[in-house]
Amino acid sequence: MLLVQRVVLNSRPGTDGEPVPGHFCVEEAIVGPFLKEGQVLVRTLFLSVDPYMRCRMNEDTGAEYLAPWGLSACVDGGGVGVVELSRCDSLSVDDVVTSFNWHWQTQCLMDEKLLQKVEPQLVDGHISYFLGAVGMPGLTALLGVREKGHVTEGANQTMVVSGAAGACGSIAGQIGRVEGCTRVVGICGSDEKCRVLVEDLGFSAAVNYRQGDVATALKESCPNGVDVYFDNVGGSISDAVIAQMNNDGHVILCGQISQYNKDVPYPPPLCDETQEALQSKNISRERFMVLNYMEKHEAGIIQLSQWVKEGQIKVLETVVNGIENMGVAFCSMMKGGNIGKQVIKISD
Ligand code: NDP
Repeated sequence: MLLVQRVVLNSRPGTDGEPVPGHFCVEEAIVGPFLKEGQVLVRTLFLSVDPYMRCRMNEDTGAEYLAPWGLSACVDGGGVGVVELSRCDSLSVDDVVTSFNWHWQTQCLMDEKLLQKVEPQLVDGHISYFLGAVGMPGLTALLGVREKGHVTEGANQTMVVSGAAGACGSIAGQIGRVEGCTRVVGICGSDEKCRVLVEDLGFSAAVNYRQGDVATALKESCPNGVDVYFDNVGGSISDAVIAQMNNDGHVILCGQISQYNKDVPYPPPLCDETQEALQSKNISRERFMVLNYMEKHEAGIIQLSQWVKEGQIKVLETVVNGIENMGVAFCSMMKGGNIGKQVIKISD
């Protein structure tokens, strides 16, 4: 038998409340003693906190593909770890594995069906990248741009990315540049994030939405208007971007984090002016979901891995240590405390 630490959901914020670390609590639990056929014991290396988890804090997530977290039950999400014991044919001790259903727990018994083996050389040993740039957020950026962005080499396009210093946004902007946009402008929540986008990641310009008027700053940084908009945030920031879009432009509707603490459906309704701008300028705005493109994930991971190894895409991470800080890290990410992917290191 093993004594482990795990995180359970303590209480819910309500559909329109802000999550706080006190909604989670850490407790001890016992794992084992026996593995069933088809199970492995994994040690958790890194856990992910992601915006969609805010919906899982509600009794009703509002999405049929997302189950709510149970009260007093162990929380789960993206994780990566190493196999310590195995009773299945497909996985051996020391294999590195990942899952979307990883318990927020230091060690756990898992069914092989829920796990995917990954090759550490794809990320040159940076195992946490499997939760970020070479994992689900990276695929979201890549497939979002490719499936909905209509980026065309030589077409002199300007791309705007909101939530640009986050896990998906920081990669999406770099992919926009690699795939041929002439100008890539990021919108994010601090001057330091703006500096990193331009100086470290090669964005053409960046706008801090917490300072000054977003519309005015965008006009300056996008003199030829906006052709492609990778939208992570929604709300008034997106209204300002869409108002400056060119005819026949494309909005990649990736996420709407500015609305996640509100009791509204997904995607949240648009104001009349924005709706009218989309129609009159023939701008496409299709909902994008990375899970709808499972058949493209394997090739996507290889592409992302290659770009990262070549240095064409730079990876940013904010790493917090310790399972006791899961709730703090989640709430911090929801408020912009992260630059790049927020991950939590659980063990070496
Ligand atoms: P991030 O790493 O971008 O973290 C969230 C960021 O959102 C924060 O860092 C913060 O940055 C920003 N933010 C928080 N509140 C607001 C607000 N009110 N207005 C503007 N920005 C805000 O998270 P991810 O990259 O994981 O996710 C980004 C988006 O992509 C989310 O909307 C998420 O739901 C979506 N997503 C969609 C997927 C899909 O398949 N469609 C898959 C994965 C993610 P700042 O300092 O700039 O405010």
